[in-house]
Amino acid sequence: MAEPRPTACRAAEGPGDFGGPSARELLRAVYGYSSFRGEQEVIIEHIASGGSAFVLMPTGSGKSLCYQLPALLRPGVGLVVSPLIALMQDQVAALRELGVRAAYLNSTLSPAEAARVESDARRGALDLLYIAPERLLTPRCLELLGAMQLSLIAIDEAHCVSQWGHDFRPEYLDLGVLGDRFPEVPRIALTATADEVTRRDILERLRLTTARVFTAGFDRPNLYYAVTVKHNPRIQLVDFLRAQRSGKNHEPSGIVYCLSRRRVEETASFLQDKGYLALPYHAGLDAEVRKRHQERFLREDGLVMVATIAFGMGIDKPDVRFVAHLDLPSSIEAYYQETGRAGRDGQPANLLLTYGLADVVLRRQLLQSSQADELHRRVEQRKLDALLGYCETTRCRREVLLGYFGDQHSSARAGACGFCDNCLHPPERFDGTLVAQKALSAVYRTGQQFGAAYLIDVLTGHPNERIERNGHHLLKTFGVGRDLDKTSWHSVLRQLIAAGLLSVDVAGHGSILLGERSWPVLRGQTTVELRRDTLEARPGRSRRADKGARAGERAVHKGADGDPLFEALRGKRRELAAAQGVPPYIIFHDSTLREMALARPRELAALARVSGVGKAKLERYGAAFLSVLRAEAAPEPIPSEG
Ligand code: ADP
Ligand code: ZN
Repeated sequence: MAEPRPTACRAAEGPGDFGGPSARELLRAVYGYSSFRGEQEVIIEHIASGGSAFVLMPTGSGKSLCYQLPALLRPGVGLVVSPLIALMQDQVAALRELGVRAAYLNSTLSPAEAARVESDARRGALDLLYIAPERLLTPRCLELLGAMQLSLIAIDEAHCVSQWGHDFRPEYLDLGVLGDRFPEVPRIALTATADEVTRRDILERLRLTTARVFTAGFDRPNLYYAVTVKHNPRIQLVDFLRAQRSGKNHEPSGIVYCLSRRRVEETASFLQDKGYLALPYHAGLDAEVRKRHQERFLREDGLVMVATIAFGMGIDKPDVRFVAHLDLPSSIEAYYQETGRAGRDGQPANLLLTYGLADVVLRRQLLQSSQADELHRRVEQRKLDALLGYCETTRCRREVLLGYFGDQHSSARAGACGFCDNCLHPPERFDGTLVAQKALSAVYRTGQQFGAAYLIDVLTGHPNERIERNGHHLLKTFGVGRDLDKTSWHSVLRQLIAAGLLSVDVAGHGSILLGERSWPVLRGQTTVELRRDTLEARPGRSRRADKGARAGERAVHKGADGDPLFEALRGKRRELAAAQGVPPYIIFHDSTLREMALARPRELAALARVSGVGKAKLERYGAAFLSVLRAEAAPEPIPSEG
């Protein structure tokens, strides 16, 4: 950076005091922020004075600063282990914009480029060095690290070390070695998702059991959670996308997750036909194509990325406005992580999960046929139960989600967050004991050999050739459920399977079986409560969503969507970003442009007070944005001279 370096130049005057600027001064000068968030300051001081830490804070809460600032405060180079190349490149680009001396070592560099980075690292001419885990433990890299002065070691996305986490990476397993090799260097492991088991596992594997633990809770108050029953996923998706546009001058960006590659391709071309700017992303696509699609998602506005879970880890794009899941995610952690990519900038963002009976049957089946050992299966079982519980709940979704992580939401009134579908539109519950008994006895009397469609035909009294061949039209249960239609029976069966009152066969035919828990229901010893599904065709447009959008704004910045000055500033940003080939948000975030549009500074000094405008950016872009601000803020065209 252009400023005198705080690092490596002066002797320490006390723990964490290296004689340079303070953490607060750097926050203002480098990042342009006026105050720390949450526990940032405590964490930064702890690391800066040589302590190690485990940091569990939600996405968008500012974890990066927790290692970047101490690296600027301490002498030497900060080592950052980061699992994804795209994330590394993004972070390094953003740091360089801030005037920080950052670089990465990964497979995209030519040997000559890598050699230069290594030489800079040895000379201490870097503040931060990002390295991929698989490269880190090679003899060459360890030799390099040994020859460098390390200020700290940060392990980002630390949940990757645990096989209980949702994104286990074997390369992460050996990272514990770093603690043995560099015992005097403070280490900091960071993640946004880890339940209790995963958390303990991370600490043990990284040999951080004595590190100070900072947890900031999991609540993402700007995310609107909604789950709907899948009936026509494409139509449901288009309705959802349409609702995202309303009230905006520009198309919002978002992600649509599907389970299979084929579904990704089909959904993307369906959306393209409907006039959306949609691109597919999955592991079956050429690496070049994937890279291009990802770049476009980061750089362009209003792009819908239709993807498998191969997409998204390390996507730092702050203005992802929605995430839709057309299929069940693999666990609550995975769901939290995938949806966590929305709204990193703190502005409201909408989530939608559609799921149905087929999803439940499939997932139960997969689990039951799993070859994993007993312990693994138990953990998997618990995770699936929790996920299905989340889908089926009639309680506040946020409460269920956060409860899973052992956390509570920040809303004052326990139970209701006021910003999820169940809170804004409480689902109807009913005593489902009788219908459950009918369903269970249909399963029993047909010999536990049939799937949902067959059972529903029996229950509703619709004979077909197979039923007649089996003589099941003569059963007492035949037609016993005529009072409900097929859709309602789907809903009942789905809920019974989700709740574990029915199970699914292992053989893969999708036959529904009784479980241990079926008998007390059949014998009338327990009651069953069910939710009445509402097949809402336009979930995002309902009164509920409007109310939701309003509720969200309470928690976030005042919007300037539609303000011509805001749009003009965005235009300038787009122009500058395109000229440099970087994503627009690397120049300034929407929230910074919003603040500019509201404060309308006319001078550099006033512009410097806007949050997100640090010294380097002020020098580089101040004039360009001031010209827009001055032109737009002028009440009348300035008369030309002469
Ligand atoms: P995380 O890694 O926890 O998901 P980031 O480190 O990417 O979050 O931070 C999210 C956003 O918040 C970034 O744009 C970051 O610059 C911004 N941010 C972080 N700390 C502060 C702060 N103290 N004041 C204002 N903005 C901040
Ligand atoms: Zn709620």
